[in-house]
Amino acid sequence: LAHARIQKSDYMGLFGTNGVRGRFFELDPEKALRVSQAIGTYFNRGKIIVARDGRLTGEVLRNAVCSGLMSVGCKVLDLGFASSPTAEFMVRKLGADGLIIITASHNPPEWNALKVVDGKGIAVSKERGAEIEKMMDRIEPASWDKVGTLEKTGTAEDDHVLAIKKEIDSEIIQKKKPKVVLDCANGMAALIAPRLLEEIGAQVITINSLVDGRFPGRPSEPSETNVSKMLAMVKKENADAGIAWDGDGDRVIFADENGNYIIGDKVFVLCLIWELAEKKGSVVTTVATSKAAEDIAAKNGCKTIYTKIGAPYLSEEMAKGTHVMGGEEVGGVIWPDLSLAKDGMITAAKMVEKICEKPLSEWAEEIPEYHNVKTKIEADQSKKTELVEKMLNYAKENNLDYLDIDGVRINLPDGWVIVRASGTEDYVRVFAEAKTGKRADEILKQYLVLLDES
Ligand code: MG
Repeated sequence: LAHARIQKSDYMGLFGTNGVRGRFFELDPEKALRVSQAIGTYFNRGKIIVARDGRLTGEVLRNAVCSGLMSVGCKVLDLGFASSPTAEFMVRKLGADGLIIITASHNPPEWNALKVVDGKGIAVSKERGAEIEKMMDRIEPASWDKVGTLEKTGTAEDDHVLAIKKEIDSEIIQKKKPKVVLDCANGMAALIAPRLLEEIGAQVITINSLVDGRFPGRPSEPSETNVSKMLAMVKKENADAGIAWDGDGDRVIFADENGNYIIGDKVFVLCLIWELAEKKGSVVTTVATSKAAEDIAAKNGCKTIYTKIGAPYLSEEMAKGTHVMGGEEVGGVIWPDLSLAKDGMITAAKMVEKICEKPLSEWAEEIPEYHNVKTKIEADQSKKTELVEKMLNYAKENNLDYLDIDGVRINLPDGWVIVRASGTEDYVRVFAEAKTGKRADEILKQYLVLLDES
């Protein structure tokens, strides 16, 4: 496919739920440059951090992004390679006006994206992205004597590691010296995680720890099948735990000492168990997160605030108040003392500290048990609207407890169900969760009948 010159119509809908994403023929240097000019303008031509992951298209896009920013007068602080949590941590640290991370997170290697974060550390949502798109056809480049500068900033990892170490009890780790297997996915975790965990006192065994944008070791999504080598290695090495990140290091999953996979929403619940034991305050999560999170918050006398699905909405809510913790259902945990973004590095370090008290499998027993089932219904735009409205009317007519901030989630006495239109695909997704798998199935079936889709 040929790279086509940008038409005005191409500006619209560039921003998805978390930045501008595409394969190389879709997100090419020309588009990256134009959108970066608009981003730089949106951030008042200020001080903008740029970071990239190890993807093969990262360098050419980085050059375009930096040029775009400088052409409108921004001062670029280039971190080079950095994990997303490291780059996001640096926004507050460097007092930046914004950040562009060139990363497609957990997507396959042919994809890339510009993830945009503002000066408060809040990721730019689709709605705010639309404001940036509107600026794209009236970019005013700086005059020749006002063009921006670029400065390389090479100490981001040191700063991030130092900040995490302040939050962790290294003494207990140095005493116990837990053995952990790290699967860095050939991604950005490789730059910081082995070093961080060694410095706090763990014995570290690494796999996929060389940065390679082709992801030769495993796909960058840390699903149970993709991390099977790490799970086996935990058993073989008699390790105390395993840890695997996604490609840019903001999301993390664990393995207990028996090599059992601990899925992302449980990682978040474990962090709540640990953190709420020490701090009280509200917890923020999305409407698709397991009720286990709300149960743990309630047990600690803390309130749960639900948001739309997507990292920007979580950070927007986190910025509003003094919440203790935020989290996504896929293993992203926000530690507000560090940043308003998901940080897979402190999440991992905290786990390593906590397994010095008791094995991870015993911690996992404290997670309230829930089972969930998911399905999707093919739907075009009008059918999406119809199905979500049907669900909403049903909830209203029957006086049910519901949330309609993103799709419609109905809370039942013994579980919940959500019907939600996909933002990027022609589907309506239906999830149900209950205390048993059988009950979750029943709820799902009951609501599919209701939607006339059984
Ligand atoms: Mg990620």
